[in-house]
Amino acid sequence: MLSVEEALEAILSRIAPLGTELVELAATLGRVLAEPVVSRRELPPWPNSSMDGYAIRAADTRAGSAELAVVGRIIAGSLPARPLQAGEAMRIFTGAPLPDGADAVVPQEDVTGDGERVTVGKRVEPGAFVRPAGEDIRAGDVVIGAGQTISPAEIGVLAALGYARVRVHRRPRVAVLSTGNELADLGTEPGPGQIPNTNTYSLMAQVVEAGAEPVSLGVVPDRLEAIVERIRWAASADVLVSSAGVSVGELDLVREALVQCGAELHLWKVSMRPGKPITFGSLEDRPVFGLPGNPVSAMVTFELFVRPALRKMAGCLAVDRPRVWARVLEPVRNPGGRRGYLRVTLARDGREYGARLTGDQGSGILSSMVRADGLAVVAPDTIVPVGERVEVILLRAPVPGAPVPRAPRN
Ligand code: AMP
Ligand code: MG
Repeated sequence: MLSVEEALEAILSRIAPLGTELVELAATLGRVLAEPVVSRRELPPWPNSSMDGYAIRAADTRAGSAELAVVGRIIAGSLPARPLQAGEAMRIFTGAPLPDGADAVVPQEDVTGDGERVTVGKRVEPGAFVRPAGEDIRAGDVVIGAGQTISPAEIGVLAALGYARVRVHRRPRVAVLSTGNELADLGTEPGPGQIPNTNTYSLMAQVVEAGAEPVSLGVVPDRLEAIVERIRWAASADVLVSSAGVSVGELDLVREALVQCGAELHLWKVSMRPGKPITFGSLEDRPVFGLPGNPVSAMVTFELFVRPALRKMAGCLAVDRPRVWARVLEPVRNPGGRRGYLRVTLARDGREYGARLTGDQGSGILSSMVRADGLAVVAPDTIVPVGERVEVILLRAPVPGAPVPRAPRN
């Protein structure tokens, strides 16, 4: 059986970033930059005032004070009428360009005067309250690297640099297929022997959260020809993600169906809990994932394998979720020979995170996924005693200072 790291390596080594497209700046939140952003301009473009006050020549105040003639007024958006001479000051407002000859600004609360003349009562250093040209960004600076996810700050910088449209990677289109005779889809009451289809919805949501676009291929029964036909529907997608039917039972037909469609399968079993049976292959150069059917196994294997693959396809350099260390607040057990990924809530315990299991860790117990801030990574055959630290893969930002809820069961 492969380790999680070996499986992930086998997957990512076969994944390449998708092509690019130009997108309106306001629609680029969460997209990934396809090329570095190199500044074409200097920001700010000219020295300007950071206060409402008076532009002066610092040298005029060398004696410890100065009385200056007010010879002009510069508001933001206008230009000084002429350079500033010795013995002069100009009224200036925040963001307005400094006149030539001026090298400092005195805030209005630090002067006295009648409007024609002002008195500065102290020595002023050159550069005081002046934002120099290029203080923020210099022409030629690489301001944002390729492969960076665009957040509000990146959007602000791109606007400052005049990018109305931005070249980003295409978002992967992901076909999501659920297989199983027992599945009743949303909108139909489960009949005798049926259970509600969960995975289509949790997996599509995980696809969105990973920055990709889901397309549902619905539910298909455990019949080889039916699965083969439905897999062909995925032809226009960049990735196929199916769930269930990848184990060793006689109705586990997804692998065979993928092969019949022409897929080459690269791996099958991974040493982890929940999870284990997971298929990854290539179908006409497109990645295909056969995830296990149990709702938690499907979500956790998506997290560990599909999400990084989608992030890489989306052009992202950082494909991993963040990890933190946390002290366990109750004993955490991982019996058996596979590495555990256990659902935990996190809370700040003084200056550290404390982790508590969210409940029963069975691979069908979806309710214990609900309050999980992360997955604690626990070695095989291990009991982590209270107070020891575990590494936790963060699935979301824990609520700061929230009380650690008691595990309902366990
Ligand atoms: P399988 O991998 O087909 O043996 O499925 C494992 C378990 O997951 C079974 O109990 C299935 O009923 C359940 N299961 C499979 N697919 C889904 C789904 N889409 N929604 C909820 N449960 C599922
Ligand atoms: Mg099944």
